[in-house]
Order: sequence, then C-alpha cells, then structure tokens
Amino acid sequence: MSKIVIGHKNPDTDSICSALGYAALLSAKGEDAVACRCGEVSKETQYALDYFKVAAPKFIEKVEEGQEVFMVDHNEFPQAVDGIESAALQGIIDHHKMDLHTASPMFIHTEAVGCTATIVSNMHWCQGVEMAKETAGLLLSAIISDTLLFKSPTCTEKDKKTAAKLAEIAGVDLNAYGMEMLKAGAGVGDMTPAEIAKNDSKPFTFGKYKAIVSQISVMDPAEVMALKDLLLVAMSNMCKHEGYDLSLVMVTDIMNESTDLLYVGEPKQLLADAFGKAADGDCMHLPGVVSRKKQIVPQLTEAAAKL
Ligand code: MG
Ligand code: MG
Ligand code: MG
Repeated sequence: MSKIVIGHKNPDTDSICSALGYAALLSAKGEDAVACRCGEVSKETQYALDYFKVAAPKFIEKVEEGQEVFMVDHNEFPQAVDGIESAALQGIIDHHKMDLHTASPMFIHTEAVGCTATIVSNMHWCQGVEMAKETAGLLLSAIISDTLLFKSPTCTEKDKKTAAKLAEIAGVDLNAYGMEMLKAGAGVGDMTPAEIAKNDSKPFTFGKYKAIVSQISVMDPAEVMALKDLLLVAMSNMCKHEGYDLSLVMVTDIMNESTDLLYVGEPKQLLADAFGKAADGDCMHLPGVVSRKKQIVPQLTEAAAKL
C-alpha cells in the first residue's frame, strides 16, 4: 500500500499543498507515496489548485491500522486524521510548537519558519530533486497563505527567499498572484455562521481548559462582524455539543493587519490575562495581530499556566 502524506484536519492551503509537494518529493526518490486530505478544500486552496491545474488530494475519513503515514503541517494527534494513533507514523514535517510523544524513532524535520512548504521546497533543492512547475506554484501558494503575503510575524527571510525562487519556477508574478489568491479565499460568500465559526479551526488545550480557535481572514471584516450575533450562537453551540470550554473566532483583517477576536465560554479571565484587555463582552480588537500560532496560542498557553 502507498505511504500517505497528510496535513491536519480542516486543511488550509499549506496542509494540502505541502502534502502534495512532499508526496512528489518522495515519489521522485522512488517511494510509493500519495497525498491525502482529511477535510474539505477551502476556496483559497481551490483557487491555487485550479490555477496550477492540479487535482485535490484524495479525501480519507481515517487511516487504517498499520498504514504508513507522514504528517505535514501539524504534529498534534487531536489535529490529525482519525486513526493516527494506530497508524505506522513514518515522519513529521512541520513548523508548529511540538507536542509529541512517539512510540518509535522516526524522521522529524521542523523549523521555525512561516510555512511547511518552505521546508518542503528546500528539501527538494538540498536533495537535488527537480521540482515540477505546478508543484512550485502550489508550494508558493502555501507560503503566501500562511504568511499572508509576508505580512505575518511568523514570516522569515527564508520564507521570502523560497517564495521568490518558487515564483520563478512557477512562472508567476509573486505579488499579483498572491493578492489574487488571498482575495479568492477571503470573504464569507455563501458560508453559514456555523461554517464561519468552524473555518480553519484547531483544537487546543490551555491548562485544564479545552478550546477551539478558528480563523477567517478577510479583506472586509465588517462583512463578518455584521453576522456577529449569529456567529456567537454558533460558537456557543460548538462549546455545548463538542465539549469545549472556550470557542474563539479570529476575524482577521488582512489589509489592516488586525484581528477582532470573538469569544464565547469560560474562563474569560484567561483572555483578559493573555491579551491585557477587559474581557467582559464577546469581542476584543487586537491591532497588529494576524497569527494564531504566534500571537494567540502562546499568550493563552502562558496565561493558563498562571491562572
Ligand atoms: Mg496549517
Ligand atoms: Mg502551515
Ligand atoms: Mg494556517
């Protein structure tokens, strides 16, 4: 059976494109590997797939026992495809905080860069593997997405250099393509409040509290904030039905680099401590905040340790 390369649940562009890119690298090296996904393809990712004429990875509900799996763009089992606990984990390529105990030794490559695709791209070049134009385009799309076209504080020089090289291979104008792709993914279109509340969501544990943190990046936050009351209801339902203490939705303004953080649940003190603002309503405005990984999760983790 083929080895599977797969990103996290609720896949973003990095999880889809790094899975495709790493599967391409393994295949080029003679391994039988195939990219899969464990969630729906987002509008932004679909734009990139269509642009470079690549089919989405195969959807799988769960992995079979003993299935050889490479995890990309995540390392936490709660974020991974169902069945991962009994799969034969082969390796991890990621750029998030590590929260991991493995049953056996394996290949693990993590770097503090803005995107898994940056790591996957450089693996191609370090190993002298030629990259197809489409693969370069998809890896580029992942970097643009994860770094919000280099605006996120998670973005490094290595991400920028890698993106420039990928744009050349893919034959696209980096900034023009980047803006088009982000625009294609931004905006709520015909999404329901429940879909918005779950967009790009990830579960976390902060101290003894279970939280789900979603993010929707938009050009016009007013469009989402107009639905605030309905969103709060959807978030509260998520807490009730899925057992979370807290539900957070980051409404991130790509152009102005800020986030309106909607919150439902307890303890609100955690939010007040983490962000140094009163948390007695249902929303706080966080100027300069665009990154969940760097500007939301560490702050909540730290605040929870002191609560
Ligand atoms: Mg991701
Ligand atoms: Mg990523
Ligand atoms: Mg992301």
